[in-house]
Amino acid sequence: MTKNKSQDKNKLEPRPPIVVILGHVDHGKTSILDYIRQSKVVQNESGGITQHIGAYQITLPPAEAKLSRGQEAEGSRAETDEIPLPPRRDQDDFATRGRKITFIDTPGHEAFSAMRSRGAKVADIAILVVAADEGVKPQTKEAIKHILRLELPLLVAINKMDKPAALPEKVKKELSENNILAESIGGKVPTVLVSAKTGLGINDLIEMILLIAEMEELKTDNTKSAHGIIIESRLDPQRGPIATLLVQDGVLNKKDFVATESAYGLIKSMENFLGASIDKAEPSTPVLVTGLSQVPPVGEEWQAMGSLEEAKAKAEIKAEKEKRKREPAEILDIAPNQKVFNLVLKADVSGSLEAVREALQSIPQQEVILRVIKAEVGDITENDVKLADSAKARIYGFRVKCQGDVGLLAERSSIKISLWQIIYELIQAVRQDASYLLAPEICREKIGRLKVLAIFKTEGKKQIIGGRVTSGKIEKGVQAEVLRGEQNLGSGRIVQLQQKKEDVSEVIKDRECGILFESDVKIEKNDILEAYKEERKKREL
Ligand code: GDP
Repeated sequence: MTKNKSQDKNKLEPRPPIVVILGHVDHGKTSILDYIRQSKVVQNESGGITQHIGAYQITLPPAEAKLSRGQEAEGSRAETDEIPLPPRRDQDDFATRGRKITFIDTPGHEAFSAMRSRGAKVADIAILVVAADEGVKPQTKEAIKHILRLELPLLVAINKMDKPAALPEKVKKELSENNILAESIGGKVPTVLVSAKTGLGINDLIEMILLIAEMEELKTDNTKSAHGIIIESRLDPQRGPIATLLVQDGVLNKKDFVATESAYGLIKSMENFLGASIDKAEPSTPVLVTGLSQVPPVGEEWQAMGSLEEAKAKAEIKAEKEKRKREPAEILDIAPNQKVFNLVLKADVSGSLEAVREALQSIPQQEVILRVIKAEVGDITENDVKLADSAKARIYGFRVKCQGDVGLLAERSSIKISLWQIIYELIQAVRQDASYLLAPEICREKIGRLKVLAIFKTEGKKQIIGGRVTSGKIEKGVQAEVLRGEQNLGSGRIVQLQQKKEDVSEVIKDRECGILFESDVKIEKNDILEAYKEERKKREL
């Protein structure tokens, strides 16, 4: 948490909380964000929400701050009554100006991970969404790990409470098994029961966010030059590079110069999340800007600069550093037992691209190294297929399609393209596809032993021997080790098996038999043949 303790107290002003929603796929993150947006965002004169950007802000008039629990009580379960009301806000200047909350609304979890991996701090508060009918799932656990590592203040929203199968107590129990102890069962984590379908508990959720924000005393220094994080970016065919900047500190003005780690420029246009042109953006505000020299990746930090030259110089220094950091990765240091799986990644926006790259890290790479030879925003093109062809790579698309006849071209060149809408599924596909490079696991099963009693004939590698099965059984066609005392001399194959001059397929314990054995090892009387079968099992990364 940034509490800005080191800053001069006089210059500090309260700022709205920035909230991120995490949780397992399909547990309702998007639905909750949509519900809040639709019910709380005042459609303004510019015609309402014209463009979906990666964050939005709600403003609650001070009157709404006094929302009573009774308002929510209808249809809600007892849980919501347990939430303490926020303290009086009369003296709080932030409250009297109208209370705002910024919600980050990027492809949720994944984009957040990408930002986290870059070490950027994005949100002040995390809402962990868990579906009441499904409980804690793998991505819930992953989200808990992130939240705990970042020490983010947390609030749990148990969603889908409208469903008959909702079992909130079970969810709380599962959460407690994962280090999240709900307030109602003696812990510290506030829990709200909600339904993104009916709206149940959503006001309580908002109140709880404001309460946490108050306790966190989020402050900003408005005299400092503005800086923050890129939370979304893409290339627009008409407008060029577009980025959503989250202002974390200071005030960003239209006509400011901005530098990120990879891009710079004079802001050409600045819009709020409703698509309305604005002249300045206060802390915790998301703004869409144009005018940057390139599409900066999600998670990069940006900073307002005094001049274009300064902005350019800053971006160039950082770009150079980044390049140097990346270079060694291009020259792969491959151990003799390692294989390389080449892939081309395409995604709809740079946030998803970063997220996919980050998620790829979850695949173990000790044996098979995943090498992303190209990662780019946009549909799959002929060039991608050509590159994949020359590098023997596979192409993975996330929320993109193949341009024109590219699908056909790929088919003709036997290039595999797979398209996905969910990152988790894309990662599973890469995992499976790359697994074919793994050496199979060989499982050996010993089936029996035979003691050699006589050598009848030797012809090159072929030897005809007689012996008695001393344990298990011997089968025609299997492999056998030749043991002499403590020594293992090597192996061979039982080509033919006879009992009383008749060909048989197996001989059991205590029976004698003749064997045609093929091996480099010269067998002697009293050697032991230890017969075994081998099974090659496909392995998965
Ligand atoms: P996300 O993957 O976490 O963003 O989940 P979504 O918001 O896309 O929701 C997944 C599915 O659950 C969708 O079909 C939603 O309509 C449904 N859903 C989300 N919230 C609720 C809820 O409160 N009640 C019910 N009945 N369905 C919900």
